Amino acid sequence: MNNPRPCYLQIAIDTPLNAVFDYRWQCDPAERPQVGQLALVSFARREVVGLIVGVVDETDVPMEKLKDALAVRSQLAPLSAQWLALAGFAADYYQRPLGEVALPGLPKNLRVLTTVALDRALKKLAKLETPHDPTPSNMPVLNPQQQIAADAIGGAQGFKPTLLYGVTGSGKTEVYLQACAQVLEREPDGQILILVPEINLTPQLEGNIRARFPGVMLATLHSSLSEGERMLHWLAAHQGKARIVLGTRLAILSSLPHLKLIVIDEEHDPSYKQQEGLRYSARDLAVWRAWQLQIPIVLGSATPSLESWHHAQSGRYRKLELRERAVQNAVLPTVKLIDMERDKPNDGLTSHLVAAIRQRLERGEQSLLFLNRRGYAPVICCESCGWISECTRCTSFMVLHRPEHRLRCHHCSLEMRIPRHCPTCGNIDIQPLGRGTQRVEEGLQALFPEARILRIDADSTRKKGSAQEAFDTVHRGEVDILVGTQMVAKGHDFKRLTLVGIMNPDTALFSQDYRASERLFAQLMQVSGRAGRAGIPSEVLIQTRYPQHPLYGAVVHHDYDHFASALLEEREQAALPPYLFQALLRAEARELATAIEFLTMARDCMQHPGITINDPIPMTMTRVHNVDRAQLLVESPSRPALQAFLKEWMLTLREMKSRVKWSLEVDPLDI
Ligand SMILES: [Zn+2]
Ligand SMILES: [Zn+2]
Repeated sequence: MNNPRPCYLQIAIDTPLNAVFDYRWQCDPAERPQVGQLALVSFARREVVGLIVGVVDETDVPMEKLKDALAVRSQLAPLSAQWLALAGFAADYYQRPLGEVALPGLPKNLRVLTTVALDRALKKLAKLETPHDPTPSNMPVLNPQQQIAADAIGGAQGFKPTLLYGVTGSGKTEVYLQACAQVLEREPDGQILILVPEINLTPQLEGNIRARFPGVMLATLHSSLSEGERMLHWLAAHQGKARIVLGTRLAILSSLPHLKLIVIDEEHDPSYKQQEGLRYSARDLAVWRAWQLQIPIVLGSATPSLESWHHAQSGRYRKLELRERAVQNAVLPTVKLIDMERDKPNDGLTSHLVAAIRQRLERGEQSLLFLNRRGYAPVICCESCGWISECTRCTSFMVLHRPEHRLRCHHCSLEMRIPRHCPTCGNIDIQPLGRGTQRVEEGLQALFPEARILRIDADSTRKKGSAQEAFDTVHRGEVDILVGTQMVAKGHDFKRLTLVGIMNPDTALFSQDYRASERLFAQLMQVSGRAGRAGIPSEVLIQTRYPQHPLYGAVVHHDYDHFASALLEEREQAALPPYLFQALLRAEARELATAIEFLTMARDCMQHPGITINDPIPMTMTRVHNVDRAQLLVESPSRPALQAFLKEWMLTLREMKSRVKWSLEVDPLDI
């Protein structure tokens, strides 16, 4: 080394402490580390990988307290200033230390102590031939509406958020792909990020993209990749080799130095919201990222979120519509309501629905029964003393899983054998109450012994790859009746499906949660949308006790516009989001009183003009895994005012050093 001189590295570390630390680094001035590189340092008696966010000549930290950084990962190109700005924005907006946002967003193999995995991945990637031909193959002809949309998106310059509002089956994917083709053609190094809500939807779309752009490298990023794969794909994006990155919400934090277009498919889907740790909305971060880079972004849905619909109505987003189904002669299914008071269900199925399934079996077409409840029955009970299978650790019930002969709590995973008799009175006649997918499957098997029935839910697809296998079976036509939860409702393109039966959606009608009806409507429209996509006339039967309910009326008429406008009006009158901004402080403790006490203190610890702080209350499901949970809702009609308050408030709360475990969620979805 010639004339090594110290410089000081400001390094963000993944810790809840707030969160940039100075380290000394001796090096040749010509070889100074760069902002955006990773470095190995010792921190709190451990060695950890941190992110360099500043390189300076002087530091305020006293010399005797300064430690040397241990290594700089110079083989990895620095993360760009734009990526750092994205992480910085997310940290700021969601009120988390930078290190807690930036580092978990990177592949695990980048954050380990050795560089073996990194070096191996770099070598592999260097050997990999990068194809360079964006010419699309087999471009189908679009209908006029699709073509207008594809040209508008593909030809957009600058920050242009577009809401692509297209009915189910209207060929939104094809619009995305043709817009992508235009961008790939125009921007020689340009990269495109495509987000989908579910891992299960990536294989179908991945296949389509690969077939369409055989001369372009595609990287996928989602949680079911192995760490090695994730590293390789992340690097391909980081180095700009992958021109298209397809992923679930975590992909929003990937490094894309030449990003030119963002596509968010099924933008209304709650899966875009991370529900633990950094509770971010990938959709909202994507819009910010597009704004920061001044590039177009398209948000697609048949049932847009009210937030996006509101932006489209107010002109902040451009709205493009696809009113017709793409496949020739394919029309939206006929939706009928079956009054369960008149047509009393037997084993959960009304005679109308049974007859419709029988008809499909005779014609060799597929049926889908949708029920958003897995397991056999949500609870078992004793009719003589009233005992019910409550979880001993949660404010919830133990769900009966009959094939496994178990009772299982879906919240804390507690399991036990099905008791032979009532634990309270000894009665041997204990009965399942209500029904889940397993029970529906059993009932169908008894009714239609010849039919090939397949159940798809979180239980049947626990093994890696089994969900894909199950969906493939449906696509190959080897299934007559499909029974499933919301896993089957989204995005899938089932060619021979002509009947959708919705078993009992009524509970959501009377939920306390003001978002429940928005969600139910979207779910019903989405699951209905699986039917009749290939041009065979199809129908949707909804079993309900409230056929007069306006929500069902809107579903029958496929009328999202009016439904959304009415909901928005209600929200405005009641001063609810999107006309109000919220944050939720949650606290957990062994005793509910401790959690409430902490929240009360938090409520009273600061002046807050312009901000409404509600009283602390227990969460609806108060106890999970022997921990009691309470929450405090903070609201303001002004987002900047709320943000300013939260910033101050978090500083104060962090200084309190309470032993209560607490967390803040900005823009909460479940209240
Ligand atoms: Zn009993
Ligand atoms: Zn439990």
